Amino acid sequence: MTLSIAIIGSGPAGFYAANALLKCRDDIQVDIIERLPTPYGLIRGGVAPDHQTTKKVAKKFEKTALTERVAFFGHVEIGTDITLNELRDVYDAVILAVGAPADRKLTIPGADKKGVHGSAAFVGWYNGHPDFQDLEPDLNIETAVVIGNGNVALDIARLLSRSDIGRSKTDLPDYARHAMDASPVKDIYLFGRRGPTDAKFTNVELREMLDLTESISMVDPDVLPDAVPDEMEDRAKRLAEKNLETMRAFANRDPKDFKKRVHFEFYASPVEILGDEKVTGIRMERTQVIDGIASGTGKYFDVACGLVVAAIGYRADPIDGLPYDETRGIIPNDRGRIDHGLYAVGWIKRGPSGVISSSRPDGVEVVEHIAADFAGTDESAKPGRAGLSEMLDQRGVRPVSFEDWKDLEEAELARAAHPAPRQKFTDVDDMMDHLENHGS
Ligand code: NAP
Repeated sequence: MTLSIAIIGSGPAGFYAANALLKCRDDIQVDIIERLPTPYGLIRGGVAPDHQTTKKVAKKFEKTALTERVAFFGHVEIGTDITLNELRDVYDAVILAVGAPADRKLTIPGADKKGVHGSAAFVGWYNGHPDFQDLEPDLNIETAVVIGNGNVALDIARLLSRSDIGRSKTDLPDYARHAMDASPVKDIYLFGRRGPTDAKFTNVELREMLDLTESISMVDPDVLPDAVPDEMEDRAKRLAEKNLETMRAFANRDPKDFKKRVHFEFYASPVEILGDEKVTGIRMERTQVIDGIASGTGKYFDVACGLVVAAIGYRADPIDGLPYDETRGIIPNDRGRIDHGLYAVGWIKRGPSGVISSSRPDGVEVVEHIAADFAGTDESAKPGRAGLSEMLDQRGVRPVSFEDWKDLEEAELARAAHPAPRQKFTDVDDMMDHLENHGS
């Protein structure tokens, strides 16, 4: 029998799941449904534009997409073009791989002022994500503040402090590259509410700060402990030790030799955004960390700035008809299983953590669930791909195929100005117009 599986979301988790399914048995047909006309989710819209090597994993996903048993249905939105329940009626199994696209919100007074952005919006903007192409953050500022001590905060600080030449080698859309190149920003503050050994930066990313030619990373040496606390678990300890060593290396250079400064500030938590309509500063409270938890000390200080980006993590969007775990920002599941025939992989399953390949084991786990759930099924009665195509056709929805995407990609590559690797389409209407007028 042939099992029909729909995967909603074409980011890394979706593709890893597709791969695992194809490997596990020959009688499986996999359809990947994506809201945007473009595939790859976080690879395209989250991974930093200056991390092109990381984006190369898309080539592996392309191989999967081009497999005969796989079809891509781009520009099809669940909840608008078709409901989740309709999809479950049509397919034997549905896998949610829609990630955690929403920001964990900064909930301090003034957080709604102009010039304050969440990292989903800011990163989406500089990555040319259609939802955020119109953000137009004001970068005509001298000081920027980034809240959070994770890799997303580092990405933002690094892109703002890179040289124009460095940025020219990225796939930043023109509008974002021009805004960053023209920005007079001199100081970028990265605030962590806990200490240097609690920071979630991975070491390769932190060390990259030492390679930047026009900016210096700075940290007060007095805040760096001599050693990592003994009670830390081994893996975290090794990471913290490497990070400490990297931060010590920050001090070996002279700030006078650099145009821009990235200040790593620890033990400081945001309490208020200052300014009238637009942000003019941020009030921070000194913290102390007891048993790994940061708490305020009642001592405050202000930093004048014209931009605040909160990079404090992400959460999944709730899905109609399914329970939602407010605390973790995920759809509750048992190791990826939500119900018979309904599964979750990636960030919607386990929250926004890890690197791209961390979603790979989720695919393997889902295959095990599907094998168990469908062990006694001899003949599938569900129409799968034919059923979806028929419904979309009846509703006048024209899905974007993988071949269409390759047409879009060819145009993106062709119009990039050397040394940029590509100039992305950032607007869905432009993509659809291109396919209408130049598609194969
Ligand atoms: P993250 O690693 O979870 O970091 C979030 C940061 O925000 C933490 O420092 C956290 O502090 C802080 N934070 C949370 N709530 C806060 C609050 N209310 N006030 C002040 N600070 C607050 O999340 P992320 O940076 O968004 O990254 C998401 C995932 O993507 C991570 O697994 C990351 O490694 C991955 N990623 C990887 C790469 C790469 O490999 N190059 C690039 C980008 C992202 P506490 O620790 O105190 O909670």
